[in-house]
Order: sequence, then structure tokens, then C-alpha cells
Amino acid sequence: MRNKIVVQKYGGTSIGDVDKLKLIAKKVVEKKSEGFSPVVVVSAMGKTTDQLVEMSEKVIFNETEPDLREKDTLLSTGELVSATLLAMSIKSLGQDVISLSGPQAGIFTDQIHGSARISDINTERMMNEINKNKILIIAGFQGINTEGDITTLGRGGSDTTAVALAAALRADVCEIFTDVEGIYTTDPRVVSTARKIDYINYEDMLEMAVLGAKMHPRSIELASVYNVPVYVAGTFSETKGTLIVKGENMENNKTVTGIAIDKNVSKITVKKIKNVPGTAASILKPLSDRSISIDVIVQNIPMDGYIDFSFSVSDDDLQRAYEILMDQKNLDFEEIIKGKGFAKISLVGTGMQNAPGYATEMFNALGKKEINIEMITTSEIRITCLINEKDVNVAVNALHSTFELDKE
Ligand code: ASP
Ligand code: MG
Repeated sequence: MRNKIVVQKYGGTSIGDVDKLKLIAKKVVEKKSEGFSPVVVVSAMGKTTDQLVEMSEKVIFNETEPDLREKDTLLSTGELVSATLLAMSIKSLGQDVISLSGPQAGIFTDQIHGSARISDINTERMMNEINKNKILIIAGFQGINTEGDITTLGRGGSDTTAVALAAALRADVCEIFTDVEGIYTTDPRVVSTARKIDYINYEDMLEMAVLGAKMHPRSIELASVYNVPVYVAGTFSETKGTLIVKGENMENNKTVTGIAIDKNVSKITVKKIKNVPGTAASILKPLSDRSISIDVIVQNIPMDGYIDFSFSVSDDDLQRAYEILMDQKNLDFEEIIKGKGFAKISLVGTGMQNAPGYATEMFNALGKKEINIEMITTSEIRITCLINEKDVNVAVNALHSTFELDKE
């Protein structure tokens, strides 16, 4: 009988330099000796991807963006470096091992350069190698489209590679090793009493991930669709990590699971635009067409038939979103105001469904600290407030103790 397949993913900081990479090599070999077939997904070493992005911007003569096809191939090389080095290191320990690029591993994606989605995984090559008892090292974050070009999955995308492989290879578990020891009730750098969570369900984790916690949100979506248990733990730590699983397995005694913080938030306000059917769509469609996601939206009460329409975007998208809107000849507005320096804080918990009162309690706690709420949005399992970034520490500490997240 074949060994159990386990997918492990190591993030950029875990393989930040060659010494760390050698420690990972030993860890992988250990897993093998425990009787597993390790399929290891790696990110690029340290800040490699950032450096490649930076270089791609520096070679451009004008204000345009680097060609996306070339950029994807460029960025994919970061993961090739770490995958090949790790394979060499493991090989030198006397183990059978092979590194594969995304395309070699049979990872097919759609055409969208820079944020491609995995469309299919042909596991034939990987299964062949696994059946030869080899350890597999897979370059994360990349695939190949139907044109035969290399694509990347978006920043942080190796998590998604890992979960997708775990699903396709029917691995028992997908282990994500990172520079934190698991998922916390909130960012421990902000709240000193933040607690590590032993179990969290996919829904809560997705909200936490979308809003700044440690994982690529799409990987959680995938894990939930294919029911892949995901274990998040510290790379060089013996401490137990967090298991992300389906709802029923979790310690369900808390209604609020955690507080997510996203500091990377900007606000755009379209001033004085005519309030007619389709106004919101005419503002947001050109942005969604260009893959810019919009989050919190506020539309004020019409005055003389005009409204102000505000929404939040990530800091990274602010300039592009602004330019796209300024380019819309059919949009008739007075002006567009853009601003950085906001943050979203979100109370997250599937337990809050059908339990009224949490929003009020949240607004109260913020009010007591004299924190101004700029925008609000809620879902069944989340209440989000957009506040000034400078207020984040006070706000999150207040909420963490109000909802007793520091207690077991
Ligand atoms: N190296 C890529 C990035 O920095 C992918 C990843 O780390 O998951 O975004
Ligand atoms: Mg990363």
C-alpha cells in the first residue's frame, strides 16, 4: 500500500535563507521517515517576489505597467529558485526527490495574468513520481494557461497551490508552515492577550483571512469546497497550531471567534453624482472589470437628486481605481476624493448568526473610546467597521476585552 500523502507548504520567511532551507529539508525528510509521502509546496525565498516586482517596475520607461505575461514568468522564477534548492538539499540527504514547476506539476489556470485561478490539475506526473516513492517539491503560486504561458495566482498564492494539490491528490491534510504559530483571536502584535485558536471553521477562517489574517483567502475557499483539513503552524516551533476544519468539529462555545484587522485600506468618494437607477453599477463595474475588489460601500441620502458614493479599496488598488474612474467619460460627478490611512476591523463568528446585539455592543465599545466609525458593513457572520488607522490599537484592544476573547 502507498504511503499517505501529506501536502506541506513553507512560506517565504520559513525559507528566508539557505540555512533555514536546510532545516526545512531535514523536516521534510523526517516526515518521509514517519511513513508519509510529502508533497512540499514552497514560496519564494524571503522578499524575492517583492524584489522581482520592484525590478519589473524599474525597467519601465513611462508610466505604464509592466507587461503582465512577462511579469508572471518573471515572478514565477522566485518559487523555482526555492523549489530547486530545496530539492538539491534533500537529495544530498540521500533521499529520492524531484522539484516540479507549476506547469510540470500539471497545474492549469485561466488566462488572467497576475491573479489566475486554477482550472484543473492533471495529477499524472505527480502520481508517477509519488509512486516511485519520491518526495515532491512543487513551486507554488504558478500554473500554465491554455496558451501555454505561465501564470501566477496572485500575491500569497502558494497557499492556494498547496490546498489545491491536497484536494487533487486526496491528501489527508494540508499543513501550512509559517512564521506564526497558528491563527489567533486577533493580531498578537496589537493585542498582547490574543489567544491561539485550536480549531476554527472554514467560514470564520475565510473572514479572518480576507481581512488580514495569515492566509490567502482563496485557499480557504478551496479547502472548504473540497473539505481539506488545513493545519497552520509555526515552521520552527513545537507548539500546536490551528486546525481549520468543517464547522461541527470546532470548539463551539464562543459566539465571536476573533477580530480581523486589515490596515491596508483606502477610501474613495465620488462626490455629487446623479442618483439614477444604475449609478452604483456604473461606478463599480469598470473597477470589477479590472479585477479591483470593492468592499465597504456607503451611499448617502440623495440631495437634489445627487448622492455621494463612497467605498473602500485596498491601498494597492487605490491609484489604479482612481485613474479608472477618472477615465470614465460617461460618469458625471463633481470630484473624486481618495484617501489612505484607514483600517477595517471586523468582529467574526459564525456563532453570531441570528444572535442580535453584537453590532450594538461593538459600536458602544468603540464609542466609549471616542473612535469614529467611517463606514459599516455586516454579513451574517461578520460586523466590519472602517476606522482611522491610528485608532486600530485602541479599538481592537477594547473589542478583544469586551467580547472576552482573552478568556478560554
Ligand atoms: N511568492 C509569492 C508572493 O510573495 C507567493 C507566496 O508567497 O505565496 O506573493
Ligand atoms: Mg507569502
